[in-house]
Amino acid sequence: LVFAVKSGEFEIDKKGLIKEVRHYRQNNERKIINEFIEFLSIPNVSADTKNIRKNALFIKEMMEKRGIEVKILETKGNPVVYGELNVPNATQTLLFYVHYDGQPVEPSKWIDSLPFKPMIRKGKLEAGTTIPKPIQFSAIKGPINEEWRIYARGSSDDRAPIICYMAALDAINKSNIRLKNNLKFIFEGEEEAGSTNLRECLVTNQKLLKSDILFMCDGPGYFSGDPTLFFGVRGIVSLQVTVYGANTNLHSGHYGNWAPNPAMSLAKLLASMKDDRGRVLIDGFYDTVVPLGEGEKKALNNIPDFDDKLKSLYGFLTPEDPQKRLTHAIQQPSLNICGIRSGWVGNEARTIVPSLATASLDIRMVKGNEGSYMAKKVVDFIKKQGYFVTSTEPTLQERLSHAKVAKVALRESGYKAYRTSMDLPISRSVIKALYGYDSKTVMIPTLGGSLPISMFSEVLDIPVIGIPIANYDNNQHQANENIRIGHLWKGIETFATIFMMGKAQK
Ligand SMILES: [Zn+2]
Repeated sequence: LVFAVKSGEFEIDKKGLIKEVRHYRQNNERKIINEFIEFLSIPNVSADTKNIRKNALFIKEMMEKRGIEVKILETKGNPVVYGELNVPNATQTLLFYVHYDGQPVEPSKWIDSLPFKPMIRKGKLEAGTTIPKPIQFSAIKGPINEEWRIYARGSSDDRAPIICYMAALDAINKSNIRLKNNLKFIFEGEEEAGSTNLRECLVTNQKLLKSDILFMCDGPGYFSGDPTLFFGVRGIVSLQVTVYGANTNLHSGHYGNWAPNPAMSLAKLLASMKDDRGRVLIDGFYDTVVPLGEGEKKALNNIPDFDDKLKSLYGFLTPEDPQKRLTHAIQQPSLNICGIRSGWVGNEARTIVPSLATASLDIRMVKGNEGSYMAKKVVDFIKKQGYFVTSTEPTLQERLSHAKVAKVALRESGYKAYRTSMDLPISRSVIKALYGYDSKTVMIPTLGGSLPISMFSEVLDIPVIGIPIANYDNNQHQANENIRIGHLWKGIETFATIFMMGKAQK
């Protein structure tokens, strides 16, 4: 199917394109928001299969209105909605990923609104208050302010990009601009339920999905609100460490100072894993890290510094390494204590020497790191501290023959680390496209969090770049999820720019 262009189609430069798209948006704001509100009114919790299908059909209809050829790809779970828009003489094909399902909702936690009754607030809901009050969009007359927000589940995560694609296509079509690239869309319906059927769907439809690049359009953009690109994500591997004392809790009066205290042993063991600046002291922890290239380092240094704002927002004075900015720190693998448990505390405190102490750890990995290798480094380190390490509950025999005993349990199935080089020809075209649009574009080599990106690069064998468009304070996965309207507008312009990006130059 060929993009429905009218006669008089023309080539356009970046400035002209943005002008046209902005002009279209300004004249159609109400129409765009109305369509979005209709979409957001359909409940989209992954487990609600009936309504999930309604979402899929609504998206299908939205796409077909724009001349996109749509296929519903059935899976063992929720359907994937696939769309394709081919243009004559296109030299490359761009694939866009979004998930249309959302996290479960707790309607009672939504303040004066409901997850699937989208409302407008004239500003951000102020923490601890109920203002500004929500208003039905239809009750609002006159111009729309970009500081206003739409409150609904999925307004940011992750239905916003879908409406932005549609509006961007409308703008391009209305302005008689010749679309340059073939566009493909893959909209998943069970990301929030773990993407269990996505890999199989990708494998089955490998040919259909063949493209030059995948854009992962999920998650919040950078704090500054500028257009954001991310080129990688950290992987994750989780493990649980338990150290043992006596095989029962013992009275702290009768046995204290004599019985080994596993809470103390665990505290010492964990403390020995990092120095005072947060540098991990485990042998080999940083050995496999693929270092950033010069371009990536430069991009990193160009990201606006929000650390002071974040420190005051989160109420602490000094980061682990006072010399390192957040954006820089997350380019390295991390070793984190997610939680520690031993004995009882507070009102429940008992005067005992606990029999065991457990800590859950997670390691976020960057390109080059591999889960089982990293976990093995931790195990080796624990052994080096004199521990007998087992993966199962230690036997009495083992407890009696080793002074220090630890159990390390590895949690399987973490996401892999991934990073696309900013120097690939296609990466450079993407950067050029967005940079021409907004010179403040934030380019993040590796995002701190973990996403199933490696699945796309492995199955489809194409590079992946992330374009998140939501405001960072969108209450993703919580009550009162929202999107700032200015972010929607920027999203439309961002995607229009990408749809029109130039061919990658070798
Ligand atoms: Zn998401």
